[in-house]
Amino acid sequence: MNTTHSAELFRTAQKYIPGGVNSPVRAFGAVGGTPIFFTRGEGAYLFDVDGNRYLDFVASWGPLILGHRHPAVLEAIEKTLRKGTSFGAPTEEEIALAQKVAEMVPSVECVRMVNSGTEATMTAIRLARALTERDKIVKFTGCYHGHADAFLLQAGSGVATLGIPGSPGVPKALAADTFLSPYNDLDALKELFRLRGTEIAAVIVEPIAGNMGTVPPQPGFLDGLRTLTQKSGSLLIFDEVITGFRVSEGGAQKLYGIQPDLTCLGKIIGGGLPVGAVGGSCRLLHALAPAGSVYQAGTLSGNPLAMAAGLATLETLRKEAVIPRLNRTAETFADALQTAIHTKGFPIQLNQVGSMFSLFFCEKPVSDFKTASQTNTALYARFFHKLLERGVYFPPSAFETVFLSAVMTQNDLQIALEAIVGSLEEIFQ
Ligand code: PMP
Repeated sequence: MNTTHSAELFRTAQKYIPGGVNSPVRAFGAVGGTPIFFTRGEGAYLFDVDGNRYLDFVASWGPLILGHRHPAVLEAIEKTLRKGTSFGAPTEEEIALAQKVAEMVPSVECVRMVNSGTEATMTAIRLARALTERDKIVKFTGCYHGHADAFLLQAGSGVATLGIPGSPGVPKALAADTFLSPYNDLDALKELFRLRGTEIAAVIVEPIAGNMGTVPPQPGFLDGLRTLTQKSGSLLIFDEVITGFRVSEGGAQKLYGIQPDLTCLGKIIGGGLPVGAVGGSCRLLHALAPAGSVYQAGTLSGNPLAMAAGLATLETLRKEAVIPRLNRTAETFADALQTAIHTKGFPIQLNQVGSMFSLFFCEKPVSDFKTASQTNTALYARFFHKLLERGVYFPPSAFETVFLSAVMTQNDLQIALEAIVGSLEEIFQ
């Protein structure tokens, strides 16, 4: 596979952009080689600057559940674009999207739009701290909630990929307000609440972890969080930036039947443009300015282009009952993959929930960050490049989720299955 032009571009990019990229994992640091520079996406496929084509299992890290250039999304963007890109003033589009989110996500009545998942989680904890008049928050090891100071401790995603426990630049005093607890370990959390419960403003969790690879919640874990937080007067925040509008129309909270106090959204809600959101009951959300006194603002928040792309995406998901169909397709794909893993005796683990999945190169089941960290990242790197040579684009890190999109055909998935099994055979031969 020729990637000469990508390599040239990467050399130039490194002169002008730190590390040559605008988000760390993109740099291929964890898998080696040169990041691929893309020019175009079409449905389930990506095309690079050297003319190679790839079946895309990254989907821009989740937003593109409908694939690249979905006609309904493109049309909505084009139509809105002709009227202007941003007014910094209220528009009808924002109401339509907020209303749609409230209809779809069970615990959400009222929504504040922001521009990224990071802004959503920052806003959610500020709100929780203001409402409870407490300072501490709890996050789980290996979960990632964006790059705000409070969350960069034992975080997943790029933080795990780079193998750093936190980040320089986060004040010690601020880090001290974040308690860490292991994912899927209710007893550890109970102990933390026994000791410090009255200081805890909120527990924030990825209801299905996606940033240490895919790690589902064990039965009783999310229920336990709900009970513990309720008892101690803390808020439960579901970070559904990945799971929202993906694992079900109403996210993980609908799938598991648990109502968090606050929900953070991102990715799919923007249909490929930058959007995030915080939602919850009107009682809680009305604490945000100008209804209340908790300050939060944004120059481009709720801009009509992003609202139109998000609304077209959510409407398409609903109208065409995309998610149940995608989940069934994903289930069949995962079953076939699991059968191949079992039959061939590959020493790897497959975790899957709906259209999210991960392959861990380790022998024991993965249920938290400790077990996820046993994955052999060198083997993952070899696997990643073998897939790339076969025209299949997986995330360039062992600690990320692989996404199926609704535009992948049976034929695409058969090709992917053969590429995955073929790559694994070469690695384990
Ligand atoms: N929360 C979760 C669960 C995420 O996966 C991410 C991004 N991958 C974020 C928050 C941060 O979102 P953004 O990159 O849009 O700031």
